[in-house]
Amino acid sequence: MHSPLRLDCRASALIANLHALQARAGSVAGAAIKADGYGLGAAEVARHLLKSGCRDFFVSTWAEASQLSSLPAGSLAVLHGFQAEDTLRPGVRPVLVSVDQVTRWKQLGDTTAACDVMVDTGMNRLGLSLSDVATLDGLVIHTLHSHLACADEDHVLNLQQLGRFRELRAAIPAQRYSLANSAGIFLGRDYAFDLVRPGLSLYGGKPRAEAQGCVAPVFDIEAQIVQVRTVRRGESIGYNATFVAPRTMSVAVLNIGYADGFWRAFSNLGTAHHQGAELPIVGRVSMDLTTIDISRSPELRAGDWVTLDFDLQEASSLTGYSQYELLTGLGQRLERTWR
Ligand SMILES: *Cc1c(COP(=O)(O)O)cnc(C)c1O
Repeated sequence: MHSPLRLDCRASALIANLHALQARAGSVAGAAIKADGYGLGAAEVARHLLKSGCRDFFVSTWAEASQLSSLPAGSLAVLHGFQAEDTLRPGVRPVLVSVDQVTRWKQLGDTTAACDVMVDTGMNRLGLSLSDVATLDGLVIHTLHSHLACADEDHVLNLQQLGRFRELRAAIPAQRYSLANSAGIFLGRDYAFDLVRPGLSLYGGKPRAEAQGCVAPVFDIEAQIVQVRTVRRGESIGYNATFVAPRTMSVAVLNIGYADGFWRAFSNLGTAHHQGAELPIVGRVSMDLTTIDISRSPELRAGDWVTLDFDLQEASSLTGYSQYELLTGLGQRLERTWR
């Protein structure tokens, strides 16, 4: 089936990012592939990273884990731990996040089975409180995790969480210790411990200025032109007539819209490209269509393809959407292709 819009993904860039993050951290890098690999496709992301030597993957739920049955035993962990309703899968570790979950795990009775544990060091989201870590006695802990709340900023919590995590490491035996997400890697090697858990930067996101030059873009968004038309000076384009043509101009209507995660915030702000020419978006992005000014590429015709400019950092500052929202919003109509 032909798709008129696609996400053109580069495995070589994904793998280069993994290796660059690993080198930066000076430790092993696992991969957060929750939310369908941040929108790029968890199975494909895992397949390529596995080939390049990655042996640690993280999803949020057991439903996500069940979609990744081809991963080797011991390489996948479920960040939300497990609830009474969840069916554990052999070879997949829960990351226990609460006293309830620790109790439930102990009740399973297999004290030699390894689990991961998340301890909260100041974010007050998931994880055992520091006052509850005595309940971990007797567990075989594969990886002890905590998670940074403000690693993308220079914030006092970073050092506080690092200090608390060091104390935990001294107090609680585990095979490995892991604290840093993508942004945490760029805080310095003090934060790296045995394993880092990047998501965003694997996919080309830059959470801090230090990521510049380390992280490469992994995908392009391309859309096909449905129609080319001429708009006369003084006429308006699109819903609510937010753009009025200052001169007679050629425009192309693209097969992509906010239902594809190309948000309305790009209206009259975003750009597309064709063979080096920048083509501004004119008027509102609608559900399935986006109009661009093709005055600089007058040769474009219906059926031709253009690339939407979607550098995560730039698109984020342009639209106010976070880089995470831009990635995970990418819709299912975009055909994912890998090369
Ligand atoms: C999602 C997640 C990550 C990855 O975070 P990024 O900011 O995308 O690198 C790491 N650790 C935990 C616990 C997470 O939930």
